[in-house]
Amino acid sequence: MNQFTNEQWQDIFTKFCHDCFMYWRHEGDSIAVAFDKAREETLKLRHYPFAPKGPEVNYDSLSKWGEMYNQTVVEILHSYEQDDALGDLRICEHCGFPVFDGYYIAGSFFCCECCAIDGSYDGDKEQFEQDLEEGDDPQNPMWDEVYWSQWHYPIND
Ligand SMILES: [Zn+2]
Ligand SMILES: [Zn+2]
Repeated sequence: MNQFTNEQWQDIFTKFCHDCFMYWRHEGDSIAVAFDKAREETLKLRHYPFAPKGPEVNYDSLSKWGEMYNQTVVEILHSYEQDDALGDLRICEHCGFPVFDGYYIAGSFFCCECCAIDGSYDGDKEQFEQDLEEGDDPQNPMWDEVYWSQWHYPIND
C-alpha cells in the first residue's frame, strides 16, 4: 500500500533529512558532520516519518534519493569544510543544507521556502512570492533574479 508518488517520496526524504540536519546543527555539529548523520538517518527510514503509523517507505524511491544525496556529497562537504571553503558550494545560505533543488535569489541559494523567506526576506512571505512571480517574467527587471530550480549535478559544479 503506497499513496505517494516517487516525486512526493523524494520531497519527504529531503524534508526529513533537512529536519535531522537542523537537529544536529542545533546540537553543535558542523555542516558536514550534521549532513552525514542526517543522510544516514534518512536512509534508515522504514515508514513515512511525519505521522504515526505512516505507510511503509517506497524503497525504490529511497534508493533513488540516496543516489543523489550520496557519499560523494558527504565527502565534498567534509573537504570544503576542512579548507574553510563551504561558501564555494551550492549550499543553503540560511542553514547550510546542500541544495539539489531550491531557490536562487540574487546570487544565493536556499534549500526550501522557509529558509528562503527567513534567510532572504526577513519572514516577508508576500514579498518573496511577488519576487518569484516577477522572476518568472522575461519582461520584468527581476527576470531570473529569483527562481526555483533543480540541479542534477554535485553541489560544487
Ligand atoms: Zn536551508
Ligand atoms: Zn530549509
